[in-house]
Amino acid sequence: MNDSLVARDNYKMLRFRNTLTGRVEEFAPLEPGSAGRPPCVRIYTCGPTVYDFAHIGNFRTFVFQDILRRHLRARGFQLLHVMNITDVDDRIIENAAAAGLSLRDYTEKFAQAFFEDMRALNLEMPEHMVRATDHVPDMVALIQRLAEKSFTYTSDGSLYFRIAKFPAYGKLSKIDLGGIQPGARVDVDRYEKADARDFALWKARKPGEHFWDSPVGPGRPGWHIECSAMAMKYLGETLDIHTGGIDLAFPHHENEIAQSEAATGKPFARFWLHAEHLIVEGEKMSKSLGNFFTLRDLFARGHKPSAIRYLLASVPYRRQLNFTFAGLQQAASSVERLRNFRLRLRTEKFSAGESAAVERARQAVEAFGAALDDDLNSAEALAAVFNLVRDTNAFMDRGEFRAGDVAALEDALARFDAVLAVLDGQMDAGFGAGAALSDAEVDVLLSERQKARARRDFKRSDEIRDHLAQHGIVVEDTKDGARWKRA
Ligand code: AMP
Ligand code: ZN
Repeated sequence: MNDSLVARDNYKMLRFRNTLTGRVEEFAPLEPGSAGRPPCVRIYTCGPTVYDFAHIGNFRTFVFQDILRRHLRARGFQLLHVMNITDVDDRIIENAAAAGLSLRDYTEKFAQAFFEDMRALNLEMPEHMVRATDHVPDMVALIQRLAEKSFTYTSDGSLYFRIAKFPAYGKLSKIDLGGIQPGARVDVDRYEKADARDFALWKARKPGEHFWDSPVGPGRPGWHIECSAMAMKYLGETLDIHTGGIDLAFPHHENEIAQSEAATGKPFARFWLHAEHLIVEGEKMSKSLGNFFTLRDLFARGHKPSAIRYLLASVPYRRQLNFTFAGLQQAASSVERLRNFRLRLRTEKFSAGESAAVERARQAVEAFGAALDDDLNSAEALAAVFNLVRDTNAFMDRGEFRAGDVAALEDALARFDAVLAVLDGQMDAGFGAGAALSDAEVDVLLSERQKARARRDFKRSDEIRDHLAQHGIVVEDTKDGARWKRA
């Protein structure tokens, strides 16, 4: 199949539900491609606030964004994607002060942990991963632009955004501004819809708090201005897509729109995609209920990155995801089924020729892509994958599958996995210690080891042998190749 044809024929079919309009709309990037270069989609994602380890609810949203990236790429687009690390906000200032650490020292550990977790879940690195504290001058410049247009006022050394001067305020979250007193202010970064007020762009220095000297006085940026400044710096004044979890729609994204559009007079983001929340066993995830899980908690219980990624990806992002351990177990079996299928494809001997399986694979690839084109309907995309696995296994069981079909099935799996990213057994290596490895996983690791030995990478081959040993798998090298058994 020709990739550029896939892109050209299908990208007009790509549809997303846009929080801004409340409708499902056809998506195409603002700027068309130029001579020989496909169009580029410019995306901004609100990244983690690094005051603690990210929890699996956060990763629900980050996995959705990764699926978005990967599907856009599969459709032939170039990507320019920015994610920020919020390393200054109320909670960070408070926690860093309590720990007696500088902002950098306090946040660094959580930022690094976030990168590790991203790698574990096969989340692609956005083209720009940027930190708020590296962009304070950009934020100050944006505040000055707003001040010149009289969108700001000062009170007790802090600068506020005057929402009464921005009539479109509330268009994203559809908030009713009826009862709001002009001049009523809010200083905290996070607040409820009922408290919609003028919000702080720049907060005056307080004793004991980290601050920056700036032309707008000594102080620190509010949370909202961070994202407006970083998004426009890297992506221009109008972005194609802005994403985040649904809790960010108000006030954070509403305020981003107000700041950016007041400054530029242009639409800030054309499409707003918000992921619904992950909840746990039917309840809100919270520390007090004891149902608050980080990725690390799940790894420590023996769960693998592939199963977690699969589970988080399996529910379409606009639907709430109810996390249960039974669901996680099922996700692990689904991944295993896929890996076993690929192993069967690679190891069984089929007679020469071709069969209807080739056409069946082509249909499945089309159904998979069409489901994702439909506002990233991952549940339907997975149904297309498993229908293909079921039908092909049936072909094989009946002896109808042919050697000439293998390439088409391999190609289909590769296309699925370019988005799902769960097939590679290596991603689970070193995780879920104590958990049993499946036969398929052992085989995948052994073939990896074989390849390492062939290129004389004995360090890697020993690592794999040790990893297998930790899982009770004994490898024996014979003149006919490697054999293994469970100890
Ligand atoms: P934060 O670090 O609080 O700024 O959140 C990082 C991302 O996780 C944001 O996009 C949030 O909207 C998202 N998020 C927070 N809690 C949940 C949850 N329970 N389910 C899904 N996404 C969430
Ligand atoms: Zn943000």
